[in-house]
Amino acid sequence: AARIIDGKALSKQLRVGFRERVARLVEQGVQPGLAVILVGDSAASKVYVGNKIKACEECGVRSLHIALPADASEAEVLATIERLNADATIHGILVQLPLPAHIQVARVLEAISVHKDVDGFHLYNVGALVTGNSIFPPCTPYGVQLLLDTTGIDVAGQNVVVVGASNIVGKPMGLMLLQREATVTICHARTRDLGQHTILADILIVAAGKPGLIVPEMVKRGAIVIDVGINRLDDGRIVGDVCFDAVKEKASWITPVPGGVGPMTVTMLIENTLRSAERAFKAVDSDEFQDWEAPTVRS
Ligand code: NAD
Repeated sequence: AARIIDGKALSKQLRVGFRERVARLVEQGVQPGLAVILVGDSAASKVYVGNKIKACEECGVRSLHIALPADASEAEVLATIERLNADATIHGILVQLPLPAHIQVARVLEAISVHKDVDGFHLYNVGALVTGNSIFPPCTPYGVQLLLDTTGIDVAGQNVVVVGASNIVGKPMGLMLLQREATVTICHARTRDLGQHTILADILIVAAGKPGLIVPEMVKRGAIVIDVGINRLDDGRIVGDVCFDAVKEKASWITPVPGGVGPMTVTMLIENTLRSAERAFKAVDSDEFQDWEAPTVRS
């Protein structure tokens, strides 16, 4: 049976290091700060934001939780971001998605300073990821990359199949592993005969949001299987996209749900925030951004 890749344990270990980094920054007079903007009152979003705030507290990062009403105007959201962009005590700005329909997501994401874009969703940071110079890798794929590293595998030359092609998980995941010289296939809902692709994967990463999607017949013996899916069943159980019990008999390594990718996502958000604070203070040498200024997208 496969060995388990324990995201909870790795998160815990990483957060010990984060507290040390925060302590070093505080000694130098810098208190790292993350602002989280939530528009509206979606129950799921509230849980996600709550987890992020909790992780900040655990690591000693100051968090600023800004809750705007569901009918807040786009101008109001943009003004909030502008204020945070100019606030030197804030090193990361995150807008919890999805936003209410009357607000244009692209405009909001493009308003965030690229220097504080800890989710990595600003077009500049997306472009940086594409060209292999990512400063703030998107948190979920970033977490998956660290989980893969714990297996000791060198991804160069491996067949990687990513199931799911969203902007926040599937696409950046594929790009990050392409950057590491894997041979990457990205599948999605319109892919014909999914199993014909997944069976070739040395590393199979699944982020479709479909419980039970991946059955053992679709998995190569000895593959590494990373399950990003988070699905709540009618009976309240949380499961991934992979039939865990059956697939673990065929895989060499597998992530559980919960306790795999989930905890890593929030951990990588803190990593990005700390890196931003360290860069702001020049605690790390960095000319990554040079003098590039973000274009303002307005109409
Ligand atoms: P999404 O709905 O934006 O995208 C889903 C993708 O999967 C799409 O590209 C779609 O074409 C593809 N897809 C859907 N059904 C498919 C099928 N039958 N076969 C092949 N491809 C299919 O979702 P997302 O935001 O990328 O999230 C995906 C899953 O990962 C969800 O379950 C979500 O809850 C979970 N998620 C987990 C974390 C985490 O921290 N662990 C973070 C983000 C998302």
